Amino acid sequence: MLQTIPTQAKRLAEYQGIVPDALLEEIETLARGLRGARVVHINATAFGGGVAEILQSLVPLMQDVGLEAAWQVIHGENEFFQVTKACHNGLQGMRLDFTPEMQAIWTRYNRENAARFEGAYDFVVVHDPQPAGLRRFTEGRGGRFWIWRCHIDTSHPHPPFRDFFLPYVQEYDAAIFTLQDFVFPGLAGPQIAIIPPTIDPLAPKNQPVPPEKARTTMARFGVDPDRPLLLQVARFDPWKDPLGVIDAYRLVKQEVPDVQLALVGVMAHDDPEGWFYLDRVLRHAGEDFDIHVLHNFHGVGPLEVAAFQAQAAVVVQKSTREGFGLAVAEALWKAKPVVGGRVGGIPLQVLDGETGYLVDSIEEAAARMLHLLRHPEEARRLGQAGREHVRRHFLLPRLLRDYLRLFAALTAGGSGL
Ligand code: UDP
Repeated sequence: MLQTIPTQAKRLAEYQGIVPDALLEEIETLARGLRGARVVHINATAFGGGVAEILQSLVPLMQDVGLEAAWQVIHGENEFFQVTKACHNGLQGMRLDFTPEMQAIWTRYNRENAARFEGAYDFVVVHDPQPAGLRRFTEGRGGRFWIWRCHIDTSHPHPPFRDFFLPYVQEYDAAIFTLQDFVFPGLAGPQIAIIPPTIDPLAPKNQPVPPEKARTTMARFGVDPDRPLLLQVARFDPWKDPLGVIDAYRLVKQEVPDVQLALVGVMAHDDPEGWFYLDRVLRHAGEDFDIHVLHNFHGVGPLEVAAFQAQAAVVVQKSTREGFGLAVAEALWKAKPVVGGRVGGIPLQVLDGETGYLVDSIEEAAARMLHLLRHPEEARRLGQAGREHVRRHFLLPRLLRDYLRLFAALTAGGSGL
């Protein structure tokens, strides 16, 4: 059996007053037609990164509206996650080798996990490339509709990786991407849905943090709450460009000597590269004690992330590839302006000059951060606009609605549920 991940109950009614009533009503209507539908979400890890973040809220909300929803994770050892991290990087455009040995490891684990897959479902939602082979190796057993959900930026995939994954994805009934730009060229067969992810406004990490609590949390990690703070919340990953963030911070520091930087990053179980990259970040930071490199092993959990986001003067997400960037939505929801790389899903959230600034270089990132530090009124205005933008487009009930619409569309093509 695949491992089932428990989640905490959620109620759709609790989102009343946060999102429009019309959205909640649409969800109820759609859910009526799907009552009792058996749904399983399958991904690679229960902890760390955006997908786990989404599933821990989406799954219980699907249950609340009457679906029999569950969350399962595949089994993998380090050798598998080494390969899947390379797949992640290759699909995001890194020019890596994809050797027959690597392909064999990926295939072997996918076959093993397919053998462990049990039960019968109306909808099997497989997240990201790690378990993408489940549809093939189960031969579709146990699922009436198979949906592949891609969370990464596949706008410029390195061809060997794209060519390897395309036939697997081709076999699904539907494929969900965050942007039209991410749809693999040549993908024909699955119904395509474009659905950007969302954050859960009721998750502990998105709750307001009282200013005094935020300050004491900062101080606990050695950050001075009385001095301006630049913040990036992201895994230690080349695409998140933490080294570029440090360089940009150094340019800002020449003008604002008391500025501090926090790089807060979770060490995900399926991301072995994270430790290697963390070391690089630490070496790059050197002996500058105003750079704070923190992660979950320091005790930085969701509440601490929320406190950092609440206390930051400017949040940065200087990614060079980004599927969506939940950390951007989280910061905007806390009314923080975001300086973000002009890549992937970031421009959906950071509207240049309206909810933050989009940048293409270290120098530009530094100039925008400096500008926002020097113009706190403008920072507040952009942050407020960002919160409203997230409220309209990137809160969890909208994601639930989009899944229900897709489920309804798939069943309408057949004989219903
Ligand atoms: N995150 C966290 N603690 C950290 C760093 C990140 O909880 O120290 C969370 C972050 O708040 C966000 C998720 O991990 O919810 C990262 O999602 P995102 O889409 O930004 O990036 P991904 O890791 O999926 O590429």
